[in-house]
Amino acid sequence: MKYRRLGRSGLKVSEISLGSWLTYGKTVEDNTAEKTIHKAYELGINFFDSANVYERGEGERVLSTALKEYPRESYVITTKAFWPMGDGPNDRGLSRKHVTEQLHASLKRMNLDYVDVFYCHRYDPETPVDETLRVIDDLIRQGKILYAGVSEWSAAQIEEAVRVADQYLLDRIVVNQPQYNMFHRYIESEVIPVSEKYGVGQVVFSPLAQGVLSGKYKPNQIPDDSRAANDSINRFIQGFLKEDVLNKVEQLKGVAKELDISLPTLALAWILRQPNVSSALIGASRPSQVEENVKAVDLELSDEVQEKIESILA
Ligand code: NDP
Repeated sequence: MKYRRLGRSGLKVSEISLGSWLTYGKTVEDNTAEKTIHKAYELGINFFDSANVYERGEGERVLSTALKEYPRESYVITTKAFWPMGDGPNDRGLSRKHVTEQLHASLKRMNLDYVDVFYCHRYDPETPVDETLRVIDDLIRQGKILYAGVSEWSAAQIEEAVRVADQYLLDRIVVNQPQYNMFHRYIESEVIPVSEKYGVGQVVFSPLAQGVLSGKYKPNQIPDDSRAANDSINRFIQGFLKEDVLNKVEQLKGVAKELDISLPTLALAWILRQPNVSSALIGASRPSQVEENVKAVDLELSDEVQEKIESILA
């Protein structure tokens, strides 16, 4: 495994990280989830992602339970808040009240003294950024959070976060967690340039387009044991199950074959070509997927291969 700094911070995270959305505490039974998380750790993954909203805390529970057998200093674990956790007006967002209550609930569920990274799961237009950054800063002073991050914030919102932190002498955010893969590249134009300027790293989710970039989906052919076959969660993957996307996947498979590697290896190495990316945040429903996906850290794509990929994606 290889490790990169999380943005400008001194924290080192594995180039491939493992998340718990739609999998642990939901579609993957606990025993398999535990084996998958243990496999990831054994392969050098030290960076594990969760959120309060993933199955109302079940994702956090499964992830933290599996990691309990390892020394706390050997892994980096995250959580997030923003999305509704109840029906009340204060059960959502990034207010001082909701952030404080949710962080404490997450720590209690995971039986942890602190999380390494706390993310604002989206931008909250109804809370001033200084209120959110100050409560995170307070929780950092209390030792309950080590680093602050955001998820899917725009370039302007990231710039605002840095300006406000500097104005009030609060801890700056060091990470943004956006979606990024071969078919979803909006961060390249503004988010990455602004993030580079301020030392904010990207931890990118759905790097395999929810499994579509494994190459296992073909038009009208959905494997029974896949995310797309599961009616309780397959609404999220639909955007990638389109004919033009699947045709491009077939062409990308050809590029991978020429290199004698798998498509997930190619797709993740393509993500890691970006120096502003701190980690590619995968999901995995079984240990073999983690084993396959970590191979990407050893592959460097030549200019020629990158050009081939660009011409397919164009
Ligand atoms: P991926 O694009 O890595 O998709 C993961 C899924 O693809 C797996 O669960 C598996 O599904 C399939 N898969 C993975 N590897 C392989 C392989 N080698 N061969 C075949 N199939 C494979 O990422 P996710 O969309 O799952 O997102 C990853 C993490 O990012 C989440 O767990 C979460 O922590 C975070 N996230 C954050 C968001 C945010 O708003 N901040 C939003 C979404 C995710 P299956 O076997 O069931 O087909």
